[in-house]
Amino acid sequence: MISLKTDEELEYLKESNLLVSRTLAEVARNIRPGVTTLELDRIAEAFIREHDGEPAFLGYNGFPNTLCTSVNSEVVHGIPSGYSLREGDIISVDCGVKLSGFYGDSAYTFEVGQVEKNVRLLLQTTREALFKGIEKVIEGNRIGDIGHAIQHHAEKAGYSVVREMVGHGLGKHLHEEPEVPNYGKKGTGVRLKSGMVLCLEPMINMGTKYIHQDPDGWTIRTRDNLPSAHFELAVAVGKKEPVVLSTFKFIELVLQTNH
Ligand code: MG
Ligand code: MG
Repeated sequence: MISLKTDEELEYLKESNLLVSRTLAEVARNIRPGVTTLELDRIAEAFIREHDGEPAFLGYNGFPNTLCTSVNSEVVHGIPSGYSLREGDIISVDCGVKLSGFYGDSAYTFEVGQVEKNVRLLLQTTREALFKGIEKVIEGNRIGDIGHAIQHHAEKAGYSVVREMVGHGLGKHLHEEPEVPNYGKKGTGVRLKSGMVLCLEPMINMGTKYIHQDPDGWTIRTRDNLPSAHFELAVAVGKKEPVVLSTFKFIELVLQTNH
């Protein structure tokens, strides 16, 4: 069943998603060569708790940390560790919080120092693909319209779309119905209604779309070991236009002042 949120619930969801957006900005402030992914995790957990939230991923199906940190060919679900980021790496940081009973969930792929131009282009295209999908989050459209817009933008640039992992509904649960694939056919799937809240999260690979899981039981990696990018925002279905609940603006303010 797909839950439709009241205006009051949408306000709570906006708060939890803004907290996750601000947490990612705090992480952004600390991304540099030499920092470990576990240090970033500690920073995020402290920030969430200082703002009265709870880390949503910690303990979720047994996940051991606050952040998913996925470096280079890791697609998603990377576990924070003693790995020190290196100049030229990319890192997807995915963060979830629970605040006042409602979840926030967002991800951003960061560049560490100077990154190769072709990798930067992958990041830029994935971010654009997310916003192409968001444009479709309007009452009357269908889930397939979102996936089609994302897939078309990514494949036009020569990249591939991960099939096994998808976006999702969001509310009093971290993962709600419906599933939101990053591929699809226009005019197919569930019809969007005002009050639905969806997380769109394209995972776009430079090479093959095929993935595998590391022996740690979590980390998803591209099968050809080429880089993968991941951006995620939560969006409420609007009557005339999408209502984006999380934001990259805090992250991008930090990135602008760092450069
Ligand atoms: Mg996420
Ligand atoms: Mg998600």
